[in-house]
Amino acid sequence: MPLCQYARSFFYQREFGLTPPFDSKLPDVGTTIFTVMSAMAAEHDAINLSQGYPDFDGPEALKERVRHYVSAGFNQYPPMAGVPALREAVAQKVDSLYGLTVDAEAEITVTAGATEALFCAIAAVVRPGDEVIVFDPAYDSYEPVVRLQGGCTVHVPLRGPQFAVDWDEVADAVTERTRLIIINTPHNPTGSVWREHDISALRAIIADRDIYLVADEVYEHIVFDGVEHVSLCRYPDLWARSFVISSFGKTYHVTGWKVGYCVAPSALSLEFRKIHQFVNFTVNTPMQHALADFLSSCPEHHLELPAFYQGKRDLFCNLLSESRFSVAPSAGTYFQLLNYGEISNADDVSLAADWTRELKVASIPISVFYRNPDALEEPVLRFCFAKDDATLSRAAEVLCSL
Ligand code: PMP
Ligand code: GLN
Repeated sequence: MPLCQYARSFFYQREFGLTPPFDSKLPDVGTTIFTVMSAMAAEHDAINLSQGYPDFDGPEALKERVRHYVSAGFNQYPPMAGVPALREAVAQKVDSLYGLTVDAEAEITVTAGATEALFCAIAAVVRPGDEVIVFDPAYDSYEPVVRLQGGCTVHVPLRGPQFAVDWDEVADAVTERTRLIIINTPHNPTGSVWREHDISALRAIIADRDIYLVADEVYEHIVFDGVEHVSLCRYPDLWARSFVISSFGKTYHVTGWKVGYCVAPSALSLEFRKIHQFVNFTVNTPMQHALADFLSSCPEHHLELPAFYQGKRDLFCNLLSESRFSVAPSAGTYFQLLNYGEISNADDVSLAADWTRELKVASIPISVFYRNPDALEEPVLRFCFAKDDATLSRAAEVLCSL
């Protein structure tokens, strides 16, 4: 059985056992791997390095602001596109970091996490019969949303140990029906980051075509080794056809708050909001005000993130230096791939499950993010290092015993 089918039936057999009451629009889609692995980690009392979230809390000053706004009665609907002060703060950040001047009123929309923004952007652009290029391994929320619009995804695998884009393959994948390319840098799950030459190659391919871009930049502030994040906001010609999406959950260690945003030119934002107003309408009021205050009063916070997470990456990788894993340090995100080729011949899906049960360390198999898992050239599992140093040490001790 091909690995992808095996992976799906392995994880989703209980759901496949059910008969849908109607023709399912997504018959082959089961529960997301992040939920599956976190549930398995909880069931087996394993150290959870699977689903990407910190095991430490967000800044005290930010939480204090939430308490303040809840107590002060900021508890009714905010404006549909988001609290103006928060949109202004995002506009200032985008200007100072990426040199892009945006109209906070018309070009920034606050969403219920990046997930909602991805849904609205894809739904705004993709029509029945359209093709959307995604890079495998692709974050799992993209494809179902494309298909729900009647579009289909065209999968271009990332190549080599660096998981880099092969731009010749992208050029070959573009057709008259290509409507959208979904970009994700820094990249989940591989930790690769785009460089300037990727931007030039993208620009050359789409130059004379009517192709839109969704840039999933939720890890924009988590890039290592002095490399600069190549946000599409830096390139006015590309931004003119882009929805640039980010998430406060990643930046402020508050993934459970589910607050994100989309920066897009006004004509695109208008279409985006037509959908946002009926998916969510708006996003909870006190968190938006608190984030606005925190962005303005502690603008240095996100500037400290590269060093903060690079320290955790280095700690985790150093702890594993004597292990039998082969480790190529992640270039961005808070995920580290570990190559287990010297330890096991098992496929990543069964190994992630076995190690959760037996070693009590949970990780994420990445073959499930491929259309064709054979395109995954390396036996790797993804580990989240957004954890306290003590958690990372305990996990590394177990992994070193293999
Ligand atoms: N895109 C990527 C690449 C992610 O890793 C995540 C979350 N981990 C999201 C989108 C969704 O972000 P949010 O939790 O803000 O919806
Ligand atoms: N994006 C997170 C991860 O990669 C998970 C988010 C989710 O569970 N939906 O682990």
